[in-house]
Amino acid sequence: MQKFTEVQVMDTSIPNRRQAQIIVWLQENDTLTIKELVARLNVSAMTIHRDLDKLAAAGLVQKVHGGVKLAPEESLQGQTAVSLPCVMCGTAVSSRTAFTITLDNDHKETACCAHCGILRLSQLDGVGSALTPDFIYGRMVNVFQAWFLVGSDVQLCCVPGILSFARANDAQKFQQGFHGEVMDFTAVQQYLIQTHMH
Ligand SMILES: [Zn+2]
Ligand SMILES: [Zn+2]
Repeated sequence: MQKFTEVQVMDTSIPNRRQAQIIVWLQENDTLTIKELVARLNVSAMTIHRDLDKLAAAGLVQKVHGGVKLAPEESLQGQTAVSLPCVMCGTAVSSRTAFTITLDNDHKETACCAHCGILRLSQLDGVGSALTPDFIYGRMVNVFQAWFLVGSDVQLCCVPGILSFARANDAQKFQQGFHGEVMDFTAVQQYLIQTHMH
């Protein structure tokens, strides 16, 4: 497992990179105080507040007294808690990364993240739709039209991690802070199939 805290060599003057880093830290700490963020990022409290406002407006975080935490998953738009384990790897599914496949016969399958979901799609016939939440905004996006950041430093679920975005632009912004490769659906699927053949 990759340690998020190693991603500390960063230019804190770039707002997007800072905001992405805050999200990564919040995935390992329930709550971070403004004070901690000021110290870790070496910017003013006002800058931190501005970053948090932006992340809160995107539905990613929630400001709490003197600090911040990740937004509760229930608040993500159009999502309900997922109770079934991943159809591919059997792990518990977080609604933050849940990948839902609906077949033509209305049968539904759930995967833990885009990694397992896209692999599963390559095994299935008669797929009606496939949806997964946008990593930034939490809105459900059509997987076949989504953009993916593959193998970035942000490790949420399966390795290599795959973050999903409705817009290529958002994927590229995250790539600037956290590396990885931006791919469309077809490219990710080919990449995963090749990776898993070995
Ligand atoms: Zn899985
Ligand atoms: Zn996964």
